[in-house]
Amino acid sequence: MPRERVLSGMRPTGRVHLGNYLGALDNWVRLQETHDCFFFVANWHALTTSSDVREVPRDTIEMIADWLGAGLDPQRSTMFVQSWVPEHAELHLLLSMITPVGWLERVPTYKEMIEQLGMESASYGFLGYPLLQSADILMYKAQWVPVGADQVPHIELTREVARRFNNIFGDVFTEPQALLTEIPKVPGTDGRKMSKSYGNAIYLSDPAEVVREKVRPMVTDPARRRRSDPGNPDICPVFDLHKIFTPPDGREWAAHGCRTASIGCLDCKAKLLEYLEPALAPIRERRQAFAEKPDMIIDILREGSARARRVAQATMEEVRQVVTITP
Ligand code: SF4
Repeated sequence: MPRERVLSGMRPTGRVHLGNYLGALDNWVRLQETHDCFFFVANWHALTTSSDVREVPRDTIEMIADWLGAGLDPQRSTMFVQSWVPEHAELHLLLSMITPVGWLERVPTYKEMIEQLGMESASYGFLGYPLLQSADILMYKAQWVPVGADQVPHIELTREVARRFNNIFGDVFTEPQALLTEIPKVPGTDGRKMSKSYGNAIYLSDPAEVVREKVRPMVTDPARRRRSDPGNPDICPVFDLHKIFTPPDGREWAAHGCRTASIGCLDCKAKLLEYLEPALAPIRERRQAFAEKPDMIIDILREGSARARRVAQATMEEVRQVVTITP
């Protein structure tokens, strides 16, 4: 039985932090054991919110070093660069002809991101980015797209577009399904959601001493001002990380010690580091070895893109046969 196909991508924003890792990459590494996986660098998507591309090439290398360090295996997963498979642009164009503008304006992230990014007027490309995502997915006839709950409307749009195309022109596309991923809450060092733009992230590439320096001053339960004040782990960002990395007995030690004020926050953070550091060290070592060989990373991406392109070309052959616009 051929394995079912999974497709996912990431914008090339540089080094991967714990939030990206636990929200996506860690799951990708598991999926490659059971599925035929295609993972891509969404570099055209990077242009939908910024035209400053100076860092994109370097950020791509850094990000792929992290993918490889985390355990993605180019022998098992096809890792490619979106713009090296130009068929995505052709399919996006064709899909844009049958997609009502209202469908795109309805995507919840459209208005949210305009507000978040303080955009005065969104570009045509930005409005269309969920449709470019649809083209990315449909091109590979992926059955599954691993997403968090907030991305489900994008998969719904893709399914609607696939149905509409199949109805108008003929059956070419598979309707993909959202592979819902439980995303743990990953707070940054200031207690807000971990994000590169907030400057509160712990990166997979951070050396051990940098991780320690970031964890030590990390925000805790604000009510626990003195060592003798009992705290509440349920509202503490450090404890959110314990929930991910610390085994149950250590977690229980921290929760009890916090509530009874029998431990200080520094003791609690030291316990977290006991488990965080061994989880990060092997990833960091592997990613460092790849980061030192950018040519090897480019070769991996070139090979993966050639493999992806063969699939994309076969799909576009089918598409061009049903969208008959040449004599
Ligand atoms: S003891 Fe631990 S869980 Fe409690 S407030 Fe301090 S860091 Fe947070």
